[in-house]
Amino acid sequence: MIEFAIVSGKGGTGKTTLTASFAVLAENKVIADCDVDAPDLHLLLKPEIKQKSEFHGMKRAYIRKDECIECGICRDKCRFDAISEDYVVDPISCEGCEVCFYACPVKAIEMRDTVSGYWFVSDTPYGPMVHGILEIGEENSGKLVTVIRKQALFLAQKQNVNYLIVDGPPGTGCPVNSTLSGLKYTVIVTEPTQSGLHDLERIVNLAHHFNVRPFVVINKHDINEEVSLSIKKRLNEINANFLGSIPFDRTVNDALKIGKPVVEFAPESEASLAIKEIWERFKKSVLA
Ligand code: SF4
Ligand code: SF4
Repeated sequence: MIEFAIVSGKGGTGKTTLTASFAVLAENKVIADCDVDAPDLHLLLKPEIKQKSEFHGMKRAYIRKDECIECGICRDKCRFDAISEDYVVDPISCEGCEVCFYACPVKAIEMRDTVSGYWFVSDTPYGPMVHGILEIGEENSGKLVTVIRKQALFLAQKQNVNYLIVDGPPGTGCPVNSTLSGLKYTVIVTEPTQSGLHDLERIVNLAHHFNVRPFVVINKHDINEEVSLSIKKRLNEINANFLGSIPFDRTVNDALKIGKPVVEFAPESEASLAIKEIWERFKKSVLA
């Protein structure tokens, strides 16, 4: 089984468009959406939820009022002002540091699991999909990404699929680390801008750090051919493989508007033909 992630140095580069198209083109696959802070793959793949599970990111303090002697120590010690005057913990302000838990003289505080988000196993017209969402204000996206990857791998092995396609989060932060760690391949989507080149180098470095082979796709390459060319040249120096370019094509936006992968919405469009070529080239490279 080939497990790989599609990532980008920043949001809005066309990462989800490419992932959704790969999900159509790949035969026998499981799809995982690890962009848990702002998931949008579901808008294109229309998953039908079959299983919903709670995600517990971190424990938070809870005061048992019947045991509390109202000494005030916990309020004095909490650096996050998370405990009210009448000794109720605000779950949004509580950072789960446990200081109050250890400081309470009568052991009236417990650390309780709280629901930080959900993960789902769904059916899509293109194959099974594992995805999730963090509650607003929650910060444990790396941990939820790990849960989703583990569940997707379990499903992929159980169903003996050929591909596990992971839509990674944008950027180079903690959830991207959780996405890349343990993978063999990644497809990085970039755009021909100077900042795009800078972001690309950062994520290629990250891929090398995790021993993941990076392939690069330049999206909307024709909006700045000069920068596209310098990106291609730079790829050799940073030890990344050029996989192909996608031209600017209005059908991509039309497909997004009606919520369909572009290769299905307009299979003969310029963008779709380019994506199909990219997919074939990627398959050849990783199966060689
Ligand atoms: S666990 Fe930490 S942040 Fe939460 S209420 Fe206790 S002291 Fe405050
Ligand atoms: S430290 Fe314990 S006993 Fe004191 S106010 Fe807080 S919860 Fe109540």
